[in-house]
Amino acid sequence: MKILLAGGAGYIGSHTAVELIRAGHDVVIADNYDNSCPEVINRIEKITGIRPVEYEVDVKNKSGVKKIFDENLIDVVIHFAGLKAVGESVQLPLKYYRNNIDTTLTLLEVMEESGCNNIVFSSSATVYGEDAPAPYREEFGRGKCSNPYGWTKNMMEQILEDAAKANPELSVVLLRYFNPIGADATGLIGEDPQGVPNNLMPYVSQVAVGRREKLTIFGDDYPTDDGTCRRDYLHVTDLAIGHVKAVEYADREKGTNIFNLGTGNPYSVLEIVNAFQEANDIKIKYEFGPRREGDLPEFWANADKAKEILGWEAKRGIVDMCRDTWNWQKNNPNGYR
Ligand code: NAD
Ligand code: UDP
Repeated sequence: MKILLAGGAGYIGSHTAVELIRAGHDVVIADNYDNSCPEVINRIEKITGIRPVEYEVDVKNKSGVKKIFDENLIDVVIHFAGLKAVGESVQLPLKYYRNNIDTTLTLLEVMEESGCNNIVFSSSATVYGEDAPAPYREEFGRGKCSNPYGWTKNMMEQILEDAAKANPELSVVLLRYFNPIGADATGLIGEDPQGVPNNLMPYVSQVAVGRREKLTIFGDDYPTDDGTCRRDYLHVTDLAIGHVKAVEYADREKGTNIFNLGTGNPYSVLEIVNAFQEANDIKIKYEFGPRREGDLPEFWANADKAKEILGWEAKRGIVDMCRDTWNWQKNNPNGYR
């Protein structure tokens, strides 16, 4: 199949491009490099031996997206093109609503005009909201989000569902990711955040490589065994393989289908720091700081549905996640730059 990856130069998109090519699919990447770098295309080619077709385009721009569909017979779209920094979304909500909602509407409109009926969407565990009990199950529905980023995911899910209700030909797969970390085993692609990392693992690896002095662990008084928050971390390669299964499913099913992609096994922040130290034989300097606003004590996935219906389950463990993160970071201390 020919698959358009909107936002495909980013962290999850680039790993998905590699796995789609490995599975024999043709990949077209559309990205404005707002949070990524054109070098990633060279790296995908280096890993797979195949260069994806590439468009530098803002996915909000309808004529730019139309051109891609005019020049390529796209079977499935995967929509990764979003802004994702939770804190920034609180400061700049309009930027987040504009970018994340507009990219979704533009893609859906151009798909309709071009006769493409399959879309896989990068959603998030954040849509379960503040009050859902873990483990999260798909049938819980969407809850109350604590920040504009979360609300954009919530709204985009609603838009996609409504579009599928109105068009019986449309297939929408909503993938609710838990916490992707790690990197391709080659160490050629990985997570390369701009500025100070918001997420735990890139912060840990930047401390390890000497770009940051120490990690601040946000809170040590949560109601968990060691007092730090617990999350469901999954290897980005497992997540990418989940997308391969999802595009194949989208191509044969109709309507809206929702899947959690997680391992079902939560780890605390301290367990992650210790696992990184042990897997890589490196000391990570850290201190405890206050809680970060909006953080939930713990959540993780029930991933049974993805296993039963997509035939997908996470295979890589915490040691792989820590080792592959470090392999990427030590070989690319300044990311792609
Ligand atoms: P990323 O920032 O690395 O990738 C997103 C890509 O989209 C970037 O390359 C960026 O340049 C591009 N982009 C953004 N707006 C665009 C626009 N208007 N036009 C063209 N390109 C645009 O992020 P990621 O971690 O790879 O996440 C991919 C998707 O998955 C996002 O939608 C994110 O919200 C979602 N998600 C991520 C996580 C996570 O922990 N990484 C968890 C849940 C959901
Ligand atoms: N975290 C931390 N220090 C950091 C970044 C994150 O202690 O510098 C914690 C954060 O409080 C949360 C966990 O690590 O408990 C995972 O945070 P991340 O931002 O990676 O994921 P999310 O909060 O979106 O689940």
